[in-house]
Amino acid sequence: MRLSTYFLPTLKENPADAAMASHRLMVRAGLIRPLAAGIYSWLPMGWRVMKKVMEIIREEMDAIGAQEFQLPALNPIEIWEETGRVEAFGDTLFHVKNRPLVLAPTHEEIFTTIARDNIKSYRDLPQIWYQIQTKFRNEPRPRSGVIRGRQFFMKDSYSFDTGFEGLDKSYGLHREAYKNIYSRSGLNFFIVGASSGAMGGTGSQEFMVESQDGEDTCALCDECGYAANLEVASSRLKPVGRLGISNPVEEIHTPNIKTIDQLAEFLKISTERLAKSLVYKADNSAVLVLMSGNDQLNEAKLTAALGKTATAMQPADLAAFTGANAGSIGPVGLKNFSIIADKRLEDANELISGANKDDFHIAHIDFNRDVKIDGYYDLRTIEAGESCPNCGHGLRIVNGIEIGHIFKLGTKYSVSLRANFLDEAGAEKPIVMGSYGIGVERIIACHIEQNHDDNGIKWDKSIAPFDVHLASVNMDNKDVVAAAENIYSELEEAGMEVLYDDRQGVSPGFKFKDADLLGMPVQVIVGERNLKQGNIELKIRKTGERKIFPMGQLLTELKTLLKN
Ligand code: ATP
Ligand code: MG
Repeated sequence: MRLSTYFLPTLKENPADAAMASHRLMVRAGLIRPLAAGIYSWLPMGWRVMKKVMEIIREEMDAIGAQEFQLPALNPIEIWEETGRVEAFGDTLFHVKNRPLVLAPTHEEIFTTIARDNIKSYRDLPQIWYQIQTKFRNEPRPRSGVIRGRQFFMKDSYSFDTGFEGLDKSYGLHREAYKNIYSRSGLNFFIVGASSGAMGGTGSQEFMVESQDGEDTCALCDECGYAANLEVASSRLKPVGRLGISNPVEEIHTPNIKTIDQLAEFLKISTERLAKSLVYKADNSAVLVLMSGNDQLNEAKLTAALGKTATAMQPADLAAFTGANAGSIGPVGLKNFSIIADKRLEDANELISGANKDDFHIAHIDFNRDVKIDGYYDLRTIEAGESCPNCGHGLRIVNGIEIGHIFKLGTKYSVSLRANFLDEAGAEKPIVMGSYGIGVERIIACHIEQNHDDNGIKWDKSIAPFDVHLASVNMDNKDVVAAAENIYSELEEAGMEVLYDDRQGVSPGFKFKDADLLGMPVQVIVGERNLKQGNIELKIRKTGERKIFPMGQLLTELKTLLKN
């Protein structure tokens, strides 16, 4: 490709709104241009990278026997109503104004419908179906460039099996395919146990790239390899437990006390025995959540425990439900609430909690005696340094960007959409499903996050837009131009992808800067001085290493370099 005619608008300055290096560099190197918040155009150079990543994905999906589809992004809203996901997605779902249609944020519904209408018997199973297609999500805070877009490409696949054993196998195949895809895309990644969210399911894992800008937080054990999203991570923190005394409950006056620490100070006890009350609303019913002391509630864990999304109750609502304010809510004598508690409080006594009237608390609460707890769940957010649940070693906490998610759905969609099959005995059963997603843009952005310096991108060959950046330093010198033209055709004939900077009137310094910004793995520099001695210069972008050698060795040298 000749740079003189290629549409490649590079920028010297960073875009004002870009906090992440990948975002800045993708705009500056002319890969993308913003159109509106969370919406990007892919320019020719960026699209070359995108197609390479998609090709890697296709090869690895085809290798596990997956079959490629292309489904519509425009979906009738009724199908989404059948599974309850118009409500579940809420404001994230884009609705079409003049027809009962939505823009698909994912495709479980549509693939399941195809399975329902076309799969009849166990003989038609298993199947793995995939597509690489545009998804639409009205993300509330689109940020970090293409990492969180309102329109983005997802590779989504779905497995259909006769039972859970088959599902395990399809899931395992995906896990391996994903590892290959990310490795081939040149990413350092790790895999964590993940939340299955409100829709349950029988297990899920996320593929993560460590990044301080990541919106996910994960706990890692360097000793045994335990890795989990904080949405599911647990630790060996000891339970609050019982004290060997048994006093009757007693109301105590606690004027002007608002926080757990103030209360512990006032009562001269450890914060642990203070059962903190948090009030949530799920499907219009009220839920009281009890946590020990300063333990932080994890809302994802709460959602998983309840099987539905819960939101913190607003003060006005709260007063209406209980007649007290947040400082004084408590489980004793509370009506119209379901009450759940964190596992650490299971079986505990001698607890203190709100009295459901302002400025009072109740002491000596025994959860086995004084309160009806509807369930104990692991609800707390673990903290760095707590002990690994498997081996007891201290846990490390890191931020990550989710680049993929594999998910054992089970029968949630086949049941709600009636996608059944007849088993060998002729009995009708729901198909057992899995769903698996990869954010294609995130692969590219994370690759750049992990491979760049102050001057620009450092592509791996596997997804680089071109293999070689050929720069002719002096376009006024006939010999230099002739040599560069020669090299250009020679390399192209040898099957290399070459970006040839043949621009007139651009200074050598500017050409070198652009070559570093664009980041092709190898730069070939044709200059007057080397040429006179029959030599040619190479620069390896990743290491900065330069080599000068006789022109005749160029092809061999490049072939070796690009193989590694
Ligand atoms: P997140 O938690 O980051 O919002 P998600 O859990 O909603 O992601 P999934 O529904 O599991 O994402 O989608 C599968 C994959 O699609 C994700 O692993 C991620 O790589 C990618 N993805 C999700 N949302 C976006 C987005 N707004 N922009 C770009 N890629 C996305
Ligand atoms: Mg996810």
